[in-house]
Amino acid sequence: MSDVAPPTVFEGFPVAEGIARGTVRRIEWCIPEVAHTVVQAASVDRELGLFRAALTDARRQLEVLKRETEVRLGPVEARIFDPQILMLDDPDVVEGTERYVAENRLAAARAFHWRMLELKERWSQTDHPMVLDRLNDLADLKLRVLNRLLALPEPWDLGGATGVVVVARDLTPSFVATLDTDRVVALATDEGTRTSHWAILARSLQIPAVAGLNRVSSKARDGQVMVVDGRSGRVVIDPDEREAERFESRRSAILGWRREIAAIAREDAVTLDRTRVVLRANLDLPGEARQAREHGADGIGLFRTEFLVVGRNTAPGEEEQYRAYRHVAETFAGRPMLIRTFDLGGDKFPVFLRAPAEENPLLGRRGVRVLPDETTLFLTQLRAMLRATAHGDVRIMVPLVNTPEEITSVRSLLRTAADQLRREGLPFSEQVKLGAMIETPAAALQARQLAAHVDFLSIGTNDLVQYTLAVDRTSTRLAHLFDELHPAVLRQISMVADAGRQAGVEVNACGEMAARPLGALLLLGLGVEALSVAWPSLLEIKRLVRRCRMSAVRAAASAALHASASCDVRRRLDESLGDVLGSSFRSGT
Ligand code: PEP
Ligand code: MG
Repeated sequence: MSDVAPPTVFEGFPVAEGIARGTVRRIEWCIPEVAHTVVQAASVDRELGLFRAALTDARRQLEVLKRETEVRLGPVEARIFDPQILMLDDPDVVEGTERYVAENRLAAARAFHWRMLELKERWSQTDHPMVLDRLNDLADLKLRVLNRLLALPEPWDLGGATGVVVVARDLTPSFVATLDTDRVVALATDEGTRTSHWAILARSLQIPAVAGLNRVSSKARDGQVMVVDGRSGRVVIDPDEREAERFESRRSAILGWRREIAAIAREDAVTLDRTRVVLRANLDLPGEARQAREHGADGIGLFRTEFLVVGRNTAPGEEEQYRAYRHVAETFAGRPMLIRTFDLGGDKFPVFLRAPAEENPLLGRRGVRVLPDETTLFLTQLRAMLRATAHGDVRIMVPLVNTPEEITSVRSLLRTAADQLRREGLPFSEQVKLGAMIETPAAALQARQLAAHVDFLSIGTNDLVQYTLAVDRTSTRLAHLFDELHPAVLRQISMVADAGRQAGVEVNACGEMAARPLGALLLLGLGVEALSVAWPSLLEIKRLVRRCRMSAVRAAASAALHASASCDVRRRLDESLGDVLGSSFRSGT
């Protein structure tokens, strides 16, 4: 029997493409302990002075980081530091801390620590990834200011090593933005998501990264060998011979796929029996538009605009929004860009709008239901969207619609925005298309009535599944019940596709289901005309489309409609499309 310990394998979320092998370097950073120090009344002014100096210093450092990131990676990546810079002006942060110093005579470090803990507590009441990502910005800023106030050394020193795999509980955007890519080959973390700011920077820097690995930072030891597969999300500590071979074959497979993908990006999404499929990209940030175009997207099928509001302290102005929308419209000149009005509420309320206290936020004031109470916010957004129509085929999409009246109220606000722009002489298209997202069973069952009021429909499968099955989409405990293949879901998709066809309006699908091979084929087979997926999935779905026959996909989907359970759906699809589905990129080997 061999006394060599078997390799330890972790599975996490792939957040930046590529595969690498290197030597573990653990980074242990934590918010420093800050003693409860009360100062003499005579020292209050001194503490306030120290606090303001630390804020000025933090601002200076962040501005430098932003400028350097702009030179290194571009203007969009540089804006990742904006939320932190804005927090330095936020009265909640600044005045809140000053009050603790002035009224409670706390030392500046303690007062700031305390205030940031309170904000963290407030923001942590959701487990929505977008808000959690902003918590990571909060921690980055907190560390920066406390390090200055407590005169602590830089926690990120990697020494002079090369071939480093950085392993940490979580990372921060400041750390990743300054990484030397000649020395760091991969990143592996316990926490974090695809939309964490550090993960976005890792993708721009092309450093393979896997997040959400749970306890990797406490298991790994400095100097161990680690393989990080940023495509499958698999991480191996101390790979044995078998794992080493597997690494080599994955590496050459990934290189092969990259070559194939580069070729596929230039090809059309056409099935073997010559049906053209529209494949568009979902965007969470304007900076992803470039990759989406390079990956051959036929346009943008969902541009989520919440990045402009969530975690921010003030409502975004029209100019800022217009610039972001225009950037994407110009990147996709001549191709459709479906941009969604703010989908606020439920689990994502920006701090500058007081979130309503609700027993069931996911069934509460969400999506288009927020509009009547926040007309100024939406009017500004519609003005910015309309102005962007002068630069491309920009179409406006409304989330969580249940009734034609909701569409009518958006149309009326859109008319107000158009009248204003006309009076001000600002250019825009008078023919802008308006669409409704189908995200509830009510909307799916009434799709025919809704279709009569809009120019297009877009099925948001993430919410449609959540509301059909009454399963919280954010709950990890219920994840096994979140079943996109449930026959009740398929029947609704089929109804919506039929309603769109009869009304002559395009039906698009933009939830995660469209990015999974089985889900994509089902949606197409049920009659959805356009799929929209995050850009990393585009080429895989295009490759799938190019390998199948639409006649077979339709036959399989219509057989699936008669299934009585999702396992039956899966079996029927495997039987008829198994050969096409079996060759997916995402499989771990
Ligand atoms: C959806 O619900 O499927 C969707 C695409 O919207 P979001 O994930 O932003 O709610
Ligand atoms: Mg949705």
